[in-house]
Amino acid sequence: MSKTRIPAKLAQQVRSDAGHRCGYCRASQSITSMSLVFDHIIPEAAGGQTTRENLWLACERCNRHKADRTTAIDPDTGQPVLLFNPRSQAWRAHFAWSPDGTQIVGLSAVGRATVVALHLNHPLAVTARRYWAKVGWHPPQE
Ligand SMILES: [Zn+2]
Repeated sequence: MSKTRIPAKLAQQVRSDAGHRCGYCRASQSITSMSLVFDHIIPEAAGGQTTRENLWLACERCNRHKADRTTAIDPDTGQPVLLFNPRSQAWRAHFAWSPDGTQIVGLSAVGRATVVALHLNHPLAVTARRYWAKVGWHPPQE
């Protein structure tokens, strides 16, 4: 989570850019009842700036697991790769939903590493997605 105050105009721009969804697990703020937080894609601890280009929205779980990391291990190769960048990379190029919409599947090294590192298939998230899917709120179509 950002330790720096985000100016109101910048916050509004980033919320709009992110579509009010977590950039990693795609949870919508409107159905989680939790405020999404501002994620420094390059963490402040690593010199990341508080700029539109370096900010996105994340849910508390994804943000907590991402912490100050920029890389993670691809479970298929054992090699370190950069984490997914929701600002510059297309989610669907790196991830897909399982057929029932409850699990996030990594399609690339970046996707696989991010699924593991950010716990994108945490049991509580999977349970919530199951309920959201039953009422047609999930998975997101964009
Ligand atoms: Zn998330």
